[in-house]
Amino acid sequence: MSASASSKIPPIAQPFVSERAKKTLDLVEEFVEKECIPAEAVFREQLGEGQQRWTTNPAIMEELKDKARKLGLWNMFLPKNHFSQGAGFSNLEYGLMAEYLGKSGVAPEATNNAAPDTGNMEVLAKYGNDAQKQQWLAPLLDGKIRSAFLMTEPDIASSDATNIQFDIRREGNEYVLNGSKWWSSGAGDPRCKLYIVMGKTDASNPDKYKQQSVILVPSDTPGITVHRMLTVYGYDDAPHGHGHITFKNVRVPVSNMVLGEGRGFEIIQGRLGPGRIHHAMRTIGAAERAIEWLIARVNDERKKTFGKPLSSHGVILEWIAKSRLEVDAARLIVLNAAIKIDNGDAKSALKEIAQAKVLVPQTALTVIDRAIQAFGAAGVSQDTPLAYLWALIRTLRIADGPDEVHLQQLGRRENNSRKQFVGAKLKWQKEQSERLLTAKGFKPRISHL
Ligand SMILES: Cc1cc2nc3c(=O)[nH]c(=O)nc-3n(C[C@H](O)[C@H](O)[C@H](O)COP(=O)(O)OP(=O)(O)OC[C@H]3O[C@@H](n4cnc5c(N)ncnc54)[C@H](O)[C@@H]3O)c2cc1C
Repeated sequence: MSASASSKIPPIAQPFVSERAKKTLDLVEEFVEKECIPAEAVFREQLGEGQQRWTTNPAIMEELKDKARKLGLWNMFLPKNHFSQGAGFSNLEYGLMAEYLGKSGVAPEATNNAAPDTGNMEVLAKYGNDAQKQQWLAPLLDGKIRSAFLMTEPDIASSDATNIQFDIRREGNEYVLNGSKWWSSGAGDPRCKLYIVMGKTDASNPDKYKQQSVILVPSDTPGITVHRMLTVYGYDDAPHGHGHITFKNVRVPVSNMVLGEGRGFEIIQGRLGPGRIHHAMRTIGAAERAIEWLIARVNDERKKTFGKPLSSHGVILEWIAKSRLEVDAARLIVLNAAIKIDNGDAKSALKEIAQAKVLVPQTALTVIDRAIQAFGAAGVSQDTPLAYLWALIRTLRIADGPDEVHLQQLGRRENNSRKQFVGAKLKWQKEQSERLLTAKGFKPRISHL
């Protein structure tokens, strides 16, 4: 048996983790390893084939949810500094737990910590009024319904959210909604009762960040058509799914507006803060699972190449070493971002969040790819979790904003904040060096810089 999860918390994070969180972390590890991972095959079987995949809620999921609740493993994602409705942990403490949840495809939902509900619950808890919270947040926190966040559109480049075209027009006491959305994750689930929709209420506003609004739409409102579910490298992600949806004269009461007209950008920025590192936290767990499969394969005595197990070939040990090193480094980036959010808020941690968002999926993909390679053909098949993990993590380089957008912001921030100081400092150091050379009787060096 390996060391417990709490004993493996990096020393740098230890001072920020309560005893209660450590106990819960160990429970999460045990729940994931002993209940969730073995249940994955049953989940797949109960989901079945064809159209049934979109109408079934595998019974094993409800059994896992019951067990998780009894263990107190429920809603750990809502950080205690910012919300009262959660389980009372910090972002850092949840980050450590989310790593274990990320090892299993069923663990996040089993503990009510699954995307996109987590981000949606944060929106409702942070920006919703009392009536909206009662109608939607309460059943989401209770795991009774699910939800989707509809921002991305098929006809525009959605990584620049100012491009959004979806029309929200007020008529009397109602808003009338028209437009198309796609990649609406979670919309395939029959329990998905709420769409949180971003659109434009004021397309001619000279401030392009004040044109958008966010509105709550019950998924069974007349005029909504779910056309199809998009696949991810061929996987349908049922029963969750990624919907392509159109709205034709869909009417909702004005009371469904969140925060007020023109506040949409503010809301999506708030939503994508901690939610972005939830993905990164879980991704560390996915990479850890890949390392476990890698080690198991390279020590499989039945499968030797050229007379030796794979672990006796030097390059393979190098893969294990590099994977360990890279995942440990990536974990520190994630935990650092979580600590920064805990100490302030997501806005004060934009740099650290972007670092985690970019680095962690890239690192995990490299690690998963090594494990796939070590398995040979089996690695790309359904006989290991690796192929699906790779597809899942690959999407994170695009979802919640592509890498390039985060890198551009990171680069601009680093460059702008340092360019003047760095230039002046290097000039001063050069002049100082020349003075020292002259004082010590040497000729100043010839340099054109
Ligand atoms: C599995 C999955 C789940 C998703 N779930 C949801 C969801 O629940 N709700 C939702 O609303 N959306 C969701 N999305 C959509 C996701 O948010 C968008 O795909 C993302 O914002 C990018 O938008 P786009 O696809 O329109 O790409 P585009 O905006 O067209 O960008 C295409 C490419 O252009 C490049 N690019 C963009 N900007 C720059 C730049 N500044 N510099 C250099 N290159 C750049 C990037 O490489 C980018 O990938 C999901 C996507 C996936 C894959």
